[in-house]
Amino acid sequence: MLQSKPPLTIYLAAPRGFCAGVDRAIKIVEMAIEKWGAPVFVRHEIVHNKFVVDDLRAKGAVFVEELEDCPDDRPVIFSAHGVPKAVPAEAARREMVYVDATCPLVSKVHIEAERHAAAGLQIIMIGHTGHPETVGTMGQLPDGEVLLVETEDDVAQVAVRDPNKLAFVTQTTLSVDDTAGIVSALQARFPAIVGPHKEDICYATTNRQAAVKAIAGKVDALLVVGAPNSSNSRRLVEVAAKGGCAYSQLVGRATEIDWRALEGIKSVGLSAGASAPEVLVEEVIAAFAERYTVTTELVETAQENVEFKVPRVLRMPA
Ligand code: SF4
Repeated sequence: MLQSKPPLTIYLAAPRGFCAGVDRAIKIVEMAIEKWGAPVFVRHEIVHNKFVVDDLRAKGAVFVEELEDCPDDRPVIFSAHGVPKAVPAEAARREMVYVDATCPLVSKVHIEAERHAAAGLQIIMIGHTGHPETVGTMGQLPDGEVLLVETEDDVAQVAVRDPNKLAFVTQTTLSVDDTAGIVSALQARFPAIVGPHKEDICYATTNRQAAVKAIAGKVDALLVVGAPNSSNSRRLVEVAAKGGCAYSQLVGRATEIDWRALEGIKSVGLSAGASAPEVLVEEVIAAFAERYTVTTELVETAQENVEFKVPRVLRMPA
């Protein structure tokens, strides 16, 4: 006799998955391949997702970590995370064709940092050490001009030139709640510090975290589809845990789900980082449907209609 499958409610976070910056970066690589033919070089993973990178590689993209790994005579794309100023400068010196796929919301932070520096302020960046976005933003100014803090403890330690001439910027993919604490610590220690109205965390990061927060307290487990090197995906897992979810886990795709850890659950929340394609979310839902009688409920906390234009050099004549 066939055993009936246990019931399971999947609470699907909305918004989830691709943001406008990721969508634009992927389009840029695809359009560059269309325009110039393969291979087109891409400095760093265009967005932090293996599935996306493998798909673009199959179409003719070659991923490298440094500009020196690219030949002079092939186009190169800079990833959505942004690059230090020295990178496009070197590409120009080598007379390479390059397209900058830096998300416009990251470029906005670059401009902010430069504006503050021009006004004579030293910059404190709130971000993760070594993350390409942090490296790119810090690299808009000469070495040593931008100080990095990751935690409230770092704020207590940071040694500044003049406490009355400071500004702060942030990485765009941080935890909204943790960052608020770090900003408060900065403002308490350096009352004259100037910064953005809130912080530089982007709309996509904020919206995805809010949707996960709305689900976390009412599910037995919550899965985030995303890559381990994706900052915004990892923050979603943390937000779920802090929101009261007993088991929150990052999964690259359905094959990574730890079914034993999920034994006995009646409900699961599901979201995806800004660089994870929807096809991987569908794959996870299908994997649950093989084991459970699934009911899906959408938990929508915001609607998004943001779209960024691709650079003019890639647009075909009308
Ligand atoms: S997560 Fe935000 S900053 Fe990063 S690419 Fe997406 S929209 Fe841009």
